[in-house]
Amino acid sequence: MKNIQSVRGMNDLLPDQIVGWHRVEAVLRDITQKYGYQEIRTPMVEKTALFTQSIGDQTDIVEKEMYTFRDAGEESLTLRPESTASTVRACIQHGLIHNRQIRLWYMGPMFRRERPQRGRYRQFHQFGVEALGWPGPDIDSEIIRIGERIWRELEINGLTLEINTLGSERSRTAYRQALTDFLTEKRDQLDEVSLRRLHTNPLRILDNKNLQIQEILKDAPVLHNFMLSDERKHFESLCSSLDRSDITYQINPKLVRGLDYYSGTVFEWKTDQLGAQSAICAGGRYDKLIENRGGRDTPAVGFAMGLERLIELVTLQGEPVEIQSIHAYMIDLTDSFEITTQIAEKLRDQGLNVVEHCGKGKLKNQLKKADQSGALLALIRGQDEADSGIIQLKHLREEKPQFNVPVEDIVGQCLKTLTS
Ligand code: ATP
Ligand code: MG
Repeated sequence: MKNIQSVRGMNDLLPDQIVGWHRVEAVLRDITQKYGYQEIRTPMVEKTALFTQSIGDQTDIVEKEMYTFRDAGEESLTLRPESTASTVRACIQHGLIHNRQIRLWYMGPMFRRERPQRGRYRQFHQFGVEALGWPGPDIDSEIIRIGERIWRELEINGLTLEINTLGSERSRTAYRQALTDFLTEKRDQLDEVSLRRLHTNPLRILDNKNLQIQEILKDAPVLHNFMLSDERKHFESLCSSLDRSDITYQINPKLVRGLDYYSGTVFEWKTDQLGAQSAICAGGRYDKLIENRGGRDTPAVGFAMGLERLIELVTLQGEPVEIQSIHAYMIDLTDSFEITTQIAEKLRDQGLNVVEHCGKGKLKNQLKKADQSGALLALIRGQDEADSGIIQLKHLREEKPQFNVPVEDIVGQCLKTLTS
């Protein structure tokens, strides 16, 4: 019989990888606290309509990347491909933004049926923040500064920040028309994807990678010229706040983001160190999403970052992470293990990490296991020690003499030895 393997693009995280994940997750949690964000956890599965209506049915995600299935009740359900739609749904459903503002963060697995490759998986993890209820450039600036602090605290260098503004619904509608008119005149030069998008999502043509299309776009109308003065002011104010915070950025007028719900400020943090998968973190404003989903008119802004890509960057650049620390390894060579077990539990009561050797075996083998565990101390109880009520204490990482300790003193002696 053939062994069953994991699903393509869905990875196991093994114990030696988890240590790095824990470190990054701890930094992320700590930073959310520094900025006063609260955690939200939403289900992994939602009704399909939530994503088709929020993300937009002409987007890559909805067109080809969603894991959608019918459950026994014939309802169409989807594994979440991202978390903004779910967060907004939960906030509306539980009245979290009724007459108030809220800063939220989330972390967890997302699912997209893409072609698996380095930095691109079918189950991957995102960390994200969402600030609901603030309209101004001050909160846009905060969201971008959170990202910058994350890179700083994880000691990641060389990320570049691109920003743009998509303007309001109103200016974008006028611009969309002008862009459609411009491209319609050149329709015989467009590729198949662009032709399809011409009437469904013309703005997405701007980020088409085809060089011929980029050439045509050089003379295309520019969104900035369609924006009202307060929309421009919002963006200028964000830029000057970033200047004052010493955050370097590039304005990229072609940055449109793949999801329909964006409006106003959009941004992306990129790296050139991960090959083709260069985007680490992306976000922006989605001022109309909450109203469109049936909530009150509430402005909002957020970002999502890919943890696999982030952790690969940390591994490439960061210091090696220490493996989980074990303080003591219990070795018992007698016929009973009760005394050793009691000592181990007492040591744990004092906050130590203790591994008990299970399964018996010769002293030599047990010491080998103790060494492999990374423990600092081995506590050895043979028949002679048992008869005289003592335990042998052996240093595994330092050249120090082994010595005998009365059973009743062993907890205190371990603590003393480990802190000296
Ligand atoms: P890309 O252009 O790489 O497909 P995207 O625009 O689809 O990214 P977003 O929806 O903005 O990505 O998600 C935010 C972040 O999540 C990305 O910047 C990336 O770091 C990460 N991400 C997205 N899709 C994947 C995936 N399939 N595997 C791993 N990480 C991903
Ligand atoms: Mg994508």
